[in-house]
Parts: sequence; C-alpha cells; structure tokens
Amino acid sequence: VADPLAAALRTIPDFPTPGIQFKDITPVLADPSLFSEAVDRLKAPFAAAGVTHVVGIESRGFWFGPALAERLGAGFVPARKPGKLPAATIREHYSLEYGADALEIHADALPAPARALVHDDVVATGGTAAAAARLVRRAGAEVVGFSFFVELAFLDGRARLLREAEGVPFRAVLRVD
Ligand code: AMP
Repeated sequence: VADPLAAALRTIPDFPTPGIQFKDITPVLADPSLFSEAVDRLKAPFAAAGVTHVVGIESRGFWFGPALAERLGAGFVPARKPGKLPAATIREHYSLEYGADALEIHADALPAPARALVHDDVVATGGTAAAAARLVRRAGAEVVGFSFFVELAFLDGRARLLREAEGVPFRAVLRVD
C-alpha cells in the first residue's frame, strides 16, 4: 500500500531558483487526516525522549512544530530570522542550498534543564538545523533530536547534523533519494 503522505508530497521544479526541486507539503496541511498522521509520525520516535521544547525553524518549521509540541506535551520555541523576535535574542549564521542567513531565539526561551527537539519541514544540507542546534546549546539546553517531515537524502544533511551533534537521533517521516 502506497504511503498516503508520500503520495501527497508535491515536487515543484525550479522553485525558488533554477535547479531546485522544491518539496511542497501544503497538500498535507490542507487535509486534516493527512496532517494528523504526519504529526503522529513526527511524534512517534521522540515520544519517550523527555522533550520539554520543540524548536521550530522559520517559516515552515512553524507548520507542524506547534502541533508536534502539543502532542509531545512540550512547549514550542520559534527560531526566527533576525529582527523578528521582540525580546533579547542570541543569533547564529548559516549557509543553505540557496543562500545564506541567520536564526535567532529568545535568550531566555530554553531555561535549564530544557531538552529540545529541533524541527523543520524539510532538511536539505542540514545547515539551518545545525545553526538551530548551536542556538539551543548556547541557550544552555540539550539537543535531544532532529525531526523533519522530509529528508532530501542526496544532500546528506543527516551526516552534517551527526558531525554537529554526535549521537543525537535524526528522524524524517519521508525520505527523498
Ligand atoms: P538546509 O539548511 O540546506 O538543510 O535547508 C533547509 C531549509 O531550506 C529548510 O528550511 C527547508 O525548508 C528549505 N529547503 C531547502 N531545500 C528545499 C527543497 N528542495 N524543498 C523545500 N524546502 C527546501
């Protein structure tokens, strides 16, 4: 039986720039039973990990992130582009498949002994999630996992994140080769 989540994933060629095969998950968001199944499958590997906070990466880590946090009984912490968060922040720079940027979290968002799960919709090279993990650690918290809806396996973000955070579990609901 085909995976209904994989079937709902849409690939848009040459977006936002030529050569990028963009993974569009909006059909999953638009269907309540697919959305619920996606959050269940994001939750399952971390259900017993003692997660206290899900750190969701702007913008598309905000789609599943709060629902995942709620289902884990955890809080949600947004990692945002610079200048968006109102209180005192810490910042990390990173490079990605199509550009370079930075992320911030509130400096007081992860009080000890926080156990954070880093989440985004898609992992490509892993640079963005690596920056989020550095933020979590600088905030004084432990990174207990990396959680993605889609892994672009050919870009090997998994290996990049293993180098950044040795021994930290990496899970993706769907894998694209
Ligand atoms: P990276 O830092 O290379 O892992 O890039 C991950 C970030 O870029 C995430 O926020 C993804 O949502 C987004 N991204 C990169 N490549 C793609 C792609 N082919 N389709 C959808 N989103 C992508």
